[in-house]
Amino acid sequence: MDVSIVIPLLNEDESLPELCAWIERVVTLQRLKYEVILIDDGSTDNSWKVICELSEKNPNIKGIKFQRNYGKSAALNEGFKASQGDYIITMDADMQDSPDEIPELLKTLSLGQYDLVSGWKKVRYDNTFTKNIPSKLFNAAARKMSGIQLNDFNCGLKVYRSNVVKSIEVYGEMHRYVPVLAKWAGFRKIGEKVVEHRPRKYGVTKFGWDRFVNGFLDLLTIFFVGKFGKRPMHFFGLWGTVSFAFGFIVFLYLTITKFMFAVTGMTERPLFFFALLAMIMGTQLFLAGFIGELITRNSSERNFYLIEKKIGL
Ligand code: UDP
Ligand code: MG
Repeated sequence: MDVSIVIPLLNEDESLPELCAWIERVVTLQRLKYEVILIDDGSTDNSWKVICELSEKNPNIKGIKFQRNYGKSAALNEGFKASQGDYIITMDADMQDSPDEIPELLKTLSLGQYDLVSGWKKVRYDNTFTKNIPSKLFNAAARKMSGIQLNDFNCGLKVYRSNVVKSIEVYGEMHRYVPVLAKWAGFRKIGEKVVEHRPRKYGVTKFGWDRFVNGFLDLLTIFFVGKFGKRPMHFFGLWGTVSFAFGFIVFLYLTITKFMFAVTGMTERPLFFFALLAMIMGTQLFLAGFIGELITRNSSERNFYLIEKKIGL
């Protein structure tokens, strides 16, 4: 099979027939062997019924129905697991991503020999203040922290080589950072292509204000786990020791002044409390690192490595 088109959806019954017809038009024109995997992420409208009808008419259309709403990341993850194509395309179900971009995305991927190509909604039809401006800031921070030069991390429209999606696990709300997950798995050739973005035709957006809070916290997680996930002591241990040593030296100084120079009123000096705080914080940080180490040592993934090739085995 050439391409698998993975589409997570939550309450998008109005868009589905139009979207599938459009995809079908594009891939038939390109003579691609394809499958469309629609993941119903716990919809409460008629989405699943529509998926069943579409699948009956066209066996290339397949569906997965979640028992409840687990989120876009979970839906993508299941779609990736089920996909059989050589290339995997993801897009949103709300028709904000145009299926007409599929051939060009595939071309960019193979010409540039990329592992994945991400869409870039350069001209965006969303609210300027609630979406466009925050998303610019967001992408700048994500670029800085991940070292991946993408303008639009969270674009729903992306194309991957099959081995990329089979190597990664999208969990929590990490769908915003799939390129980062891919980079962690060793896929460094990440490309970008400007894609057409369209206004939402039916339904409403499924992500509210909490997207910024969650997105920002996830970015910190990505950064931290990427850097220190397998060696937490190198972060907490270092700063814990620095803080403790600092407090200890200050205490030493205070003690010397008390006993050798008979300076009194030690507990009224700000320095005393500063040193106390530094030593307590240092111990806490150190312990956090130590516990982190113990957890990673007991984790089932402590010796999990992705192996690309083997010979003679
Ligand atoms: N979606 C999903 N599960 C969720 C939330 C959203 O599968 O819990 C799907 C949604 O149906 C759509 C895509 O993720 O196909 C992107 O969502 P949306 O268009 O609401 O996001 P926006 O374009 O506003 O960022
Ligand atoms: Mg949308």
